[in-house]
Amino acid sequence: MTSKTFRMPAARLLAAALCGAMTPASIHAQATPALAYTHADSLRGSITPQRAWWDVVFYDLDVHVHPEDSTLTGRVGITYRVTGPKAEMQIDLQQPMVLDSVVQDGQAVRLREDGNAYFATLPKAQRVGSRRSVTVYYHGRPRVAKNPPWDGGLIWRTDSLHRLWVATAVEGLGASAWWPNKDTQADEPDSQRVRITVPEPMIDVSNGRLRRTTHNADGTATYEWFVVNPINNYDVAVNAGGYAHFSQVYHGERGPLTLDFWPLSYHLDTARVQFKQVVPMLACFEHWFGPYPWYKDGYKLVEAPHLGMEHQSAVAYGNHYGNGYLGRDLSGTGLGLAWDFIIVHESAHEWWGNSLTSKDAADEWIHESFANYAENLYEECQHGKAAGAAYVIGTRARVKNDVPIIPAYGVNAEGSGDMYYKGGNMLHTIRQIVNDDDRWRGILRGLQATFRHQTVTGKQIEDYMSAHAGVDLSRVFAQYLTTTKIPVFEYRRNGDTLAYRWGDVVPGFDMPLRILVGSGAEALGTLIHPRTEWQSMRFQGDSITVDPNFYVIARDVTAGAAAKPDSGKTPAAGSGSGVSMTPITAGQSRVPASRRSSAIASSWDMPTR
Ligand SMILES: [Zn+2]
Repeated sequence: MTSKTFRMPAARLLAAALCGAMTPASIHAQATPALAYTHADSLRGSITPQRAWWDVVFYDLDVHVHPEDSTLTGRVGITYRVTGPKAEMQIDLQQPMVLDSVVQDGQAVRLREDGNAYFATLPKAQRVGSRRSVTVYYHGRPRVAKNPPWDGGLIWRTDSLHRLWVATAVEGLGASAWWPNKDTQADEPDSQRVRITVPEPMIDVSNGRLRRTTHNADGTATYEWFVVNPINNYDVAVNAGGYAHFSQVYHGERGPLTLDFWPLSYHLDTARVQFKQVVPMLACFEHWFGPYPWYKDGYKLVEAPHLGMEHQSAVAYGNHYGNGYLGRDLSGTGLGLAWDFIIVHESAHEWWGNSLTSKDAADEWIHESFANYAENLYEECQHGKAAGAAYVIGTRARVKNDVPIIPAYGVNAEGSGDMYYKGGNMLHTIRQIVNDDDRWRGILRGLQATFRHQTVTGKQIEDYMSAHAGVDLSRVFAQYLTTTKIPVFEYRRNGDTLAYRWGDVVPGFDMPLRILVGSGAEALGTLIHPRTEWQSMRFQGDSITVDPNFYVIARDVTAGAAAKPDSGKTPAAGSGSGVSMTPITAGQSRVPASRRSSAIASSWDMPTR
């Protein structure tokens, strides 16, 4: 998803004590109001006993879309493997949708309703290891998206030619807003059929490949799409409207990859120009991340009546065929105006979010921090390393440090929107620690190869990166993901002795840091290893600067040094004196961070449709 804001958690703010659902991750939260999660949040966000005993193998989704009254009718075949002793079967379908029946072996089974979850009692034995299926019948008028893609649901629109245009966007809200399923990111089917029936002449573009189009006698058409890979359920999408189509073949790391583009028909010529950016995007991301994850399902861009969404193998596009983020640059440097933010960011999710999917929404940083980081790698691919660094450093002005990036687990909670810019800067900082671009690229590609097409925990990602960086990064992740504090590099000078330590950090924080001693051409970069205790070193020179690629605050605590406030958002090293180590790129903003923040705040709230 794109980075205007983050989704509202279902939980409500309360002054009450922590509830039982809070986890160790949330205990790190500083100055964070206690969040009280509901029974419904736990049903939605945890692996309940009624979810734990079966593993989804295949969803066979068959939905009729009725724009005339904004309703859906459908059925879903759920094929599953029995992995443990049978309990009730939890099937999620959000109100006001109505689950009509669940049928197994030709017999309707008993149902118990609990809010947005239904519990089916399957009378037949469910032998462990066996493969079984149920069919779920349902209908209703699904929630209408209030502000898609961030506050999602069904989108019922008409285009400029007054033709019907219908789409889904349900990240965070959940796929169960419009079709019944096991609504957790932890369980993906191995494959999925998506049959969508719409009134003629609408064309539906969903995920995977189109296998069949049937023109029905009642004036509708059925589009049968098939995804041959695991897919997270929020990525399954309807895009139905007056589309045109063109295609090309990209020759990538795994051979020929089909690229299919579905603009609204009157945008065909514009799309042919704007979508040329897809090929350099794929080339850049295959270089850094490894092969595009879905050669068998292909790559698609589909024009959508919302800004954009990472719908797997059918990326939703609504950036009005312009560069930047709706014509703006999120980094404040101007660099982001050279490319189409939605093509770059949402496509990056094919690797980060779709191929590697977080099991729990609390680890959504795996999706957004890496997708944000991918933006600066794309800038680097286009305009060089310094430009990429300037872009990611520029986005620090958007970091709020309001609440930790990782919220509570098990309740479908999503953390701070800082998972975008702060998360991207955390990864950029880790690259500096690794200090070897070949190794860094190997880590990114290795993550993709190791966890390809899997659901993962944040800890798996963190542990892999530590193991392959050759540095224990656990406290770095803890600092940036579970607290709202930016590490403060405190230093003081006394003659030719420099004393230094980390402040405002988690216990044992020991992140290496590159400092620059001296100024101008004489300056020397040194990698030092501050800890929370004071250490000292000899130095010569009249100034010390922290490498601005490290997302830290530098504070000169020498007696008599001017005390300057640190916001944690400043692109360079806070109050550090001296010059920046990173060349200022042409076009980079020199507006002070404090002023840039307010300028961004006003554009931040701009409605995006
Ligand atoms: Zn995103």
